[in-house]
Amino acid sequence: MDMQDQARLDDPAPARPCDLLVPASVATQSFDFIVIGSGPSGRRAAIQAAKLGRRVLVVERGRRVGGVSVHTGTIPSKTLRETVLNLTGWRERGFYGRAYRVKKDISVKDLMARLHMTLDHEVDVLEHQFARNTVTQICGTAMFLDPHRISVTSDTGEVRVFEGDKFLIAVGTRPHRPKDVPFDGHHVLDSDEIIELERLPRSLTVIGAGVIGVEYATIFSALDVQVTLVEARSSFLDFIDHELIEDFLHQLRDRGMSFRFGSKVQRVEIQNGHTLTFLESGRRVRSEMLLYAAGREGVTDRLNLEACGLSFDDRGRVKVDGKSFQTSIPHIYAAGDVVGFPSLASTSMEQGRIAACHAFGIPMPPAPEFFPYGIYAVPEMSTIGMTEEQVKQKHIAYECGIARFRETSRGHIMGLSAGMMKMIFALETRKLLGVHIVGEGATELIHIGQAVLNLGGTLDYFIENTFNYPTLAEAYKIAALDAWNRMYRP
Ligand SMILES: Cc1cc2nc3c(=O)[nH]c(=O)nc-3n(C[C@H](O)[C@H](O)[C@H](O)COP(=O)(O)OP(=O)(O)OC[C@H]3O[C@@H](n4cnc5c(N)ncnc54)[C@H](O)[C@@H]3O)c2cc1C
Repeated sequence: MDMQDQARLDDPAPARPCDLLVPASVATQSFDFIVIGSGPSGRRAAIQAAKLGRRVLVVERGRRVGGVSVHTGTIPSKTLRETVLNLTGWRERGFYGRAYRVKKDISVKDLMARLHMTLDHEVDVLEHQFARNTVTQICGTAMFLDPHRISVTSDTGEVRVFEGDKFLIAVGTRPHRPKDVPFDGHHVLDSDEIIELERLPRSLTVIGAGVIGVEYATIFSALDVQVTLVEARSSFLDFIDHELIEDFLHQLRDRGMSFRFGSKVQRVEIQNGHTLTFLESGRRVRSEMLLYAAGREGVTDRLNLEACGLSFDDRGRVKVDGKSFQTSIPHIYAAGDVVGFPSLASTSMEQGRIAACHAFGIPMPPAPEFFPYGIYAVPEMSTIGMTEEQVKQKHIAYECGIARFRETSRGHIMGLSAGMMKMIFALETRKLLGVHIVGEGATELIHIGQAVLNLGGTLDYFIENTFNYPTLAEAYKIAALDAWNRMYRP
């Protein structure tokens, strides 16, 4: 205990209700920056602050660091996807036909083996990063005692108290679990439970056609599971260019996925080992298993935010300034999914870094106007910039160029029959306005478009530059030439 701690104990502040939760004998340790949650925003902020020479503490209530991103979200779902594509021989079916399989009977064990190896590796890397940057980590659930102190309660009930100069709330989200949905972890699961599957179902209902629902629905469909995707609204993934969604839907229908859009779920029941989803339209969906993936909520209810003068909204989210990620209490920041849109690991990391820099007075250039979205469905989609719908709304005169992957030599070599790229250019300035890709490699290919877009590039970049051959990236040139033809052909 240092002298400051001793002085604090000798001179107790007037008792507040939260102090009653902490035994008087508990000493307080101080840090410059306390980060609650070790997901992408928390870990990036912690490392940034440590690099600025600050004493940093990361509190994580999970057994290992990494957050939703490493343990139940991004990395598990992407590993599962990769495993499914490899074991099913999905990428080779263009050549060898739809019946082609690398492994005939794919079991849950096959899927889980690679998952656990990947997660272990990810956690090792993160722990090493913390150690290398002298970030202190502690395992336990954090709760505010007042604007500058938190208590951390371990699994065994041990309580410790920490004082911080600055804080980052990076607690993320958990799946929304309505009370009337009979979650049992066997037949009706949420997106955390689906990665700990006991068996592969023959049929699956997915409720919620957001990014998570669509990704899992298409991954299971690639495993030959009969999938029905249920969505209350009549459209889905509305932030994606509609032409891309049409192409995507066409591919999914073609391989037998079913869609029940535009009708709310009345109730879900488990009967004789099957799930039944009753829709307001009167239709009923029967399947062996059901994934409920309609929404997530911030994990703020146990943070005792009132003790530091903050509150959360009905979805558990904390309000921040969109540029600095400062809350209404200036020394407390929040970043990642707990602040809401866009709720991506990629953007969460950047938010964490911005928050740490702002907290310690390091100027940051403004964030680029556009960031990419990756939707790791099968097939994958990725998009940056404005959609055609947005361009129309803004009354910008524009033209589009389209390239099909089957038009590229690389596409022939890979046996691709599907996949497309759509580019949108301003007619007056020839500036690139948006790039939208569905198909193999979309989430990697998008970064070429991102660079040109954020650097203010035009159609000419794609026409004048040489691209590696044969590559899928050639689609950029083909789409740009297509746009040029539409813009200037006699
Ligand atoms: C199925 C799925 C797939 C996804 N796929 C992608 C993708 O492909 N690409 C992408 O960019 N994003 C993806 N995401 C989103 C991505 O995972 C999140 O945006 C990201 O994890 C949010 O990071 P975060 O910093 O908010 O913290 P999180 O990763 O949410 O972690 C928060 C951490 O805080 C801890 N915590 C909570 N409360 C306390 C407390 N009181 N005390 C101590 N610790 C606490 C939690 O245990 C958790 O470890 C996916 C999400 C899901 C669910």
